[in-house]
Amino acid sequence: MSFRYIGFAKTVMVALLLATTPLFAINIILNQYAERRAITEMEAMGNVSVHRAEEAISTTVSLLQRLDRDDVQTCSAEDRVIFEKQIVEHGMIDAIGLADASGQRMCIIPDRDLAGKIILPPIRADGPLVGIGMLERSFLGAHAAVISWDLKNQTRLFAEVTPAVIAMDPGPEYLRSYRRTELRLGNNLLWYSVGGYNSVDSDPEAMLSVETASELYPLVATVTAPASSARQAVQDLKVLAAAACAGIALLFVAIGVWFSWRPESEANDEFAAAIRNGEFIPFYQPVMDIESHRLRGCEVLMRWRRQNGVIVSPGQFMAYAENNDHIFEMTRHMMRVAVEEVGELYGDNPDLKLSINLFAGHFRDREIVSDIKAIFEKSRISYQQIVVEVTERHPLEDMELARKIIAELQALGVRVALDDVGTGHGGMAYLQKLGVDIIKIDKMFIDTISSDDSSTTIVDSMVELADNLGMGIIAEGVEMEEQIERLLELGVTAAQGYFFAQPMPAGEFIEFAERTELEARERDRMAAEAAAAERAASEADVKGAAA
Ligand code: C2E
Ligand code: CA
Ligand code: CA
Repeated sequence: MSFRYIGFAKTVMVALLLATTPLFAINIILNQYAERRAITEMEAMGNVSVHRAEEAISTTVSLLQRLDRDDVQTCSAEDRVIFEKQIVEHGMIDAIGLADASGQRMCIIPDRDLAGKIILPPIRADGPLVGIGMLERSFLGAHAAVISWDLKNQTRLFAEVTPAVIAMDPGPEYLRSYRRTELRLGNNLLWYSVGGYNSVDSDPEAMLSVETASELYPLVATVTAPASSARQAVQDLKVLAAAACAGIALLFVAIGVWFSWRPESEANDEFAAAIRNGEFIPFYQPVMDIESHRLRGCEVLMRWRRQNGVIVSPGQFMAYAENNDHIFEMTRHMMRVAVEEVGELYGDNPDLKLSINLFAGHFRDREIVSDIKAIFEKSRISYQQIVVEVTERHPLEDMELARKIIAELQALGVRVALDDVGTGHGGMAYLQKLGVDIIKIDKMFIDTISSDDSSTTIVDSMVELADNLGMGIIAEGVEMEEQIERLLELGVTAAQGYFFAQPMPAGEFIEFAERTELEARERDRMAAEAAAAERAASEADVKGAAA
């Protein structure tokens, strides 16, 4: 992936996140709003039911009270006429009659078979003067109610109220086919029950429920509806919100693309400009001799020093540079700069080695050979000081040609190292076919060297193999002192890693080289002095013994 696709992917992710997060919030808010609204509507429905029932009871009770006051308290022919007149006057009253203490009808207008049925609760001495009972007769879910008023002689006047007064309050459209309304009297007598046939959800957790109690009579209306039906009312809004968020997401992506996407050629132009400006420069990481603590040389690692001073690692641009054939020019430039920067140091110290990384494409033709000749022929860095590294990570296309190029380089005196050994697919075949001089053991194996026995065995066999084939070995990525001890035990003498130094600019590397050399000389001098003192002491011993 090249450096600019990463930015693009990030932009898309951020845009999607920015646009979808509000969608969750909007959904929750809309659901809450829908449920609150449904509850308000259900409260209103409950209130209407209770209110109608209260009115029916109050009107009937006051009618019966008036009859009582007017002494219309018997089943006499005279009273029957008055009953009839009241029925005609009050549309909601279906019948009027007299009942006994147990609740059985004694007479009823209009005349009907009495059939000895109990229609009212029995009279209680301490009970209320008003009694309410329900008949089986019903209309659209509502029963006909019987309301009574106690007279003095243990009888009572009663009136049957038409179910029509109480029936039907459909409520709002979206709740209509799901909601259930029930109206009950205190003693759990059902007056009215309607709806709830299409329950989409029977889970009580998912039900909304509202209870409304009458302040005048023991009446309770219960309205229930599935929360999902309430939420359906905002379905359209949700779709709208989702569409809006999708639109916003697209907009964000479009804006992101606008800012982060540049046509291939433009990105390429920028890269080419960076090459022309000399922004790709060498850093140098020391390779140490871990026996003598002296500097063996360095590996040249490319860095992109951008105009704003930011240093970019090869992981960010190397694949792009390789895929677009920029790497050839970049490598040439880096080698030229290396000659300028460390040529003097290398001229003065002919044992130092300079490792240069090549990639598979460099082995497609002989250009690399002529490049190396052109750059180093007349420089202070000799061919014998140069090592080219070829990685095992990516396969070489044409092994035969690669072998020839390597042989030509070796004929000049350049050495060839196989990089990242153990990580690729090359393995033994590479080592033998390519005829490399040095292997570099990857950090992956060095990392576990002090703790893991099996990894030590891998390193062991690599060392053995290298010895048998007469190759040198460099351990990569050494970060800890224990690793150095183990490497020495295994017979490895060259190593590179943060334990010694990170890759650094030329100035620092030259200082590092001088400092290590001074320290090594100082160590040599002290060792020589100690040896001389020991020799002197033992000579004195010999003389003393002779005397
Ligand atoms: P490499 O050739 O295997 O280089 C070693 C990498 O390991 C370098 O990363 C180095 O900084 C890092 N390293 C060294 N010691 C340690 C250590 O102790 N701990 C850790 N964690 N890392 C250590 P860098 O410089 O980022 O280079 C990455 C890769 O980019 C190189 O891996 C090489 O494959 C490629 N590369 C760098 N410069 C060039 C170049 O000029 N040309 C080509 N073709 N590839 C290059
Ligand atoms: Ca390397
Ligand atoms: Ca390596």
